[in-house]
Amino acid sequence: MLVTSVLRECHRLRVHLRNLKAEIDAGPRVLAEHQEELDAARAAHAAHYDAITKLKLKQRDDEGTLKQTDDRLKKLRDQLEALVAPKERAAKELEITHAEEKKAALEDAILATITELEEKHAAVPDVEVKWKGAQDEFAQFQTEAAERLERMTADTAESRAALDAAELQLTPEVKGPYAAIVKAKGPEAFAGAKARVCQGCRTSMTEMQFTTLREGTFRTCATCGRMQYPVE
Ligand SMILES: [Zn+2]
Repeated sequence: MLVTSVLRECHRLRVHLRNLKAEIDAGPRVLAEHQEELDAARAAHAAHYDAITKLKLKQRDDEGTLKQTDDRLKKLRDQLEALVAPKERAAKELEITHAEEKKAALEDAILATITELEEKHAAVPDVEVKWKGAQDEFAQFQTEAAERLERMTADTAESRAALDAAELQLTPEVKGPYAAIVKAKGPEAFAGAKARVCQGCRTSMTEMQFTTLREGTFRTCATCGRMQYPVE
């Protein structure tokens, strides 16, 4: 195989291996993002039932206070009957008015709580669907992530083996510079040259240089130092 063809293959494989490594390395961060979404969904689900519990407690408390207020109103009205002096009657009537206001406010509050509870109960099926959806999504993500990781791990092993095999085809005089440039630049050690233009740094070579490159001669870019290969 021409050395330039070997370089093209080495370039492809080294870029591919770098991308695989980046994706494998990003795995834990992506998992954490999905875990956060699941946690948020779990919290929203729990919050809905917490709200129902709190509303029920509020309703019970308000109903207790309403009962007390009712009892007190009865007592006040009994007391009013026994009073004769206008001043005393007026004072008692004011007390009764305040108690009645309190009773009305409590009744309004209880009604509002009941309405809110009905809404919360009506929303339960929706809340459950959402929570189940979040759990399913997470489980699906985990399955797919495990499959993807397995695939990428196998691909990495295959690509490394292919890279080793390709590099074995390099001629002895190329091996030295190849190793040095790859060590310095990694997957950026290579560049295609298209219509005389280096795809790594966009500088041009002469027509003759391009011709020798197309014939398969090893050369590096005079500007960026990348090992070149022709691309059509
Ligand atoms: Zn270049």
